[in-house]
Amino acid sequence: MQLTTVSGLVIRERQSGDNDKFLDILTETDGVVEVMAKGVKKYTCPFAAASQLYAYSRFCLSYRRGRYYIDSAEPVKIFYSVREELERFSLVSYFSEVISFCQFPDKENSRDILRLFLNILHYLTEGTREMSLLKSIFELRLMSETGHMPDVVGCSVCRQYQTDKMYFSAAKGNLYCENCYSAHPEHGAVCIGPSVLHAVRHIVLTDFDRLFNFKLSGDSMTVLSDISEQYLLIHLGRSRFKTLDFYNSLC
Ligand SMILES: [Zn+2]
Repeated sequence: MQLTTVSGLVIRERQSGDNDKFLDILTETDGVVEVMAKGVKKYTCPFAAASQLYAYSRFCLSYRRGRYYIDSAEPVKIFYSVREELERFSLVSYFSEVISFCQFPDKENSRDILRLFLNILHYLTEGTREMSLLKSIFELRLMSETGHMPDVVGCSVCRQYQTDKMYFSAAKGNLYCENCYSAHPEHGAVCIGPSVLHAVRHIVLTDFDRLFNFKLSGDSMTVLSDISEQYLLIHLGRSRFKTLDFYNSLC
């Protein structure tokens, strides 16, 4: 029997029989790991609090017959409040579904993606950032961290840094200046102004410590929402996520 200790966030749960659950844990070191939480629904279970949805905990796991089991767990931070309100809960359910679907290129990504998710849970709990902004940050930053970083440094043809209007192609993940777009218009490329361009560059390129330090509103936020969602779906090869459909149905 192998034993291992790992920090991670419970991002999904599935019932198993009367007393047990399967959990998907986004770990610091190994991407998403499925574990069996045996007896977790009994009120005497010592690791029930640490194993609930959106608990960030330190888990001691044992590996037996091809499966991980929770031996013990200590909560570090439990994000209760994201489960209490439908819109917030539907948004984090979408993030959880996307992360469970994603491939993580290496261990370094695991730490960065966990940090991204924990920060988003923090801001959702605090209520100090718009949900639509957090959604776009999640979508574009996650794609950048998992090998799908768009080229947003300048026009992909002439390398001009910025023009009044630029065009973003979600399919190709690049930008065109006005002149290059006029010469060869690309179907599906979206016209974006300076504030959306700045926001996209910020999300993709800035250091993590400053990632959440910007604001966007009105039409610019609507444009950013559209392109970040399209970008994620196209680059994950999905036409939809059912949790995303549900979240969008609430807005
Ligand atoms: Zn150009």
